[in-house]
Amino acid sequence: MKIHEYQAMGIFRDYGIPVAEFETATTPAEARSAAERLGGRVVVKAQVHVGGRGKAGGVRLAEDPAEAERHAADILGMDIKGLTVRKVVVAGAVDFEREFYVGFVVDRASKMPVCMISGEGGVDIEQVAAATPEKIHKLAIDPEEGMSAEQASELAALVEGRPEVAGGIADVILRLYSAFVGSDASLAEINPLVVTSAGEVRAIDSKMNIDDNALFRHEDIAAMRDPSSETEEAKKAREMGLSFVRLDGDVGCVVNGAGLAMTTMDLIKQHGGEPANFLDIGGSSSPEKVVTALEIIAGDSKVRSILINIFGGITRCDDVAKGLVDALDGASIGVPIVARLTGTNEEQARSILARHELFAADTMDEAVEKAIELAGGPA
Ligand code: GDP
Ligand code: MN
Repeated sequence: MKIHEYQAMGIFRDYGIPVAEFETATTPAEARSAAERLGGRVVVKAQVHVGGRGKAGGVRLAEDPAEAERHAADILGMDIKGLTVRKVVVAGAVDFEREFYVGFVVDRASKMPVCMISGEGGVDIEQVAAATPEKIHKLAIDPEEGMSAEQASELAALVEGRPEVAGGIADVILRLYSAFVGSDASLAEINPLVVTSAGEVRAIDSKMNIDDNALFRHEDIAAMRDPSSETEEAKKAREMGLSFVRLDGDVGCVVNGAGLAMTTMDLIKQHGGEPANFLDIGGSSSPEKVVTALEIIAGDSKVRSILINIFGGITRCDDVAKGLVDALDGASIGVPIVARLTGTNEEQARSILARHELFAADTMDEAVEKAIELAGGPA
């Protein structure tokens, strides 16, 4: 789950990371009074779940409260990469002489949290990563051992020569590691972490993604979910316990289990087709889940056929078949459906489906080929 910058700022502050003083505002007038309380000179920042807000005009420096109000009026309602800005952060402006990048991610290759640090932080970090990857230093941290003060100091010394400043950076690295682990984050990032002319270290941008599977033990973070930043289909899928990812192709997929989802998508590609989505109805399934899954997929105008590929174990094929029949009877799906159901209760499933207009396939290859053909043939 993504959280907003102001929410991550709150978490970072709880862990003792020096973030700027800030308030949030949803109207220009609120931004003005926040700026008055914060001493006048502030930054007004769009709160949307995308990076690169600065470059999109969503981060602006104001010299006084009146200017903060004007900036807020410009930024609120702005569209940044398809998301409408509904809230801004008003933060005390910080003057700085250097910008660093510091972040933690869970690295799949080393299966450990990895700390990344660079002396070339700021808005162009992606460019630095692409053009001069040697300028980004990385260190994998054994989660059983945790991060040591020595590791943090060594990383800080790679980007900053002055010992006192490097000490401040090392302190932030350790606190960021604690915030990352303590919140079950999959990403925690400060870009930029700056050094003021007085040599003080400040975090002026905060970003965090939280592992969905750990939200059950972070009620406070789970409550940070912003429903306005979630699409209708994503919300529907989440509430029904379905894993849904939208892709660019035209063959809609309903499968059970992530492994079968991957295999099905691979097979579609191998046969020259393009999957429109990844939708996993999960291990144990109910007819309602199948109905919801079909509604979500049929709502995508790019979908030209739907492939249902179910391996019945705990998931019973007859349950899926009932869901299919309910969905077909209840509303017109509008696109042809190919079903391949195998395993538990497949005989019952077959007789439930026999009365309905869909293409039943016996093998995965046959099902995939048929679904691609019905979507208009291989690309
Ligand atoms: P992002 O573009 O979404 O990463 O947003 P950031 O919060 O990182 O802001 C973009 C850029 O604006 C930063 O890299 C800074 O260069 C600049 N910026 C942000 N806050 C301040 C501030 O308090 N003072 C100054 N001088 N610049 C700032
Ligand atoms: Mn940034």
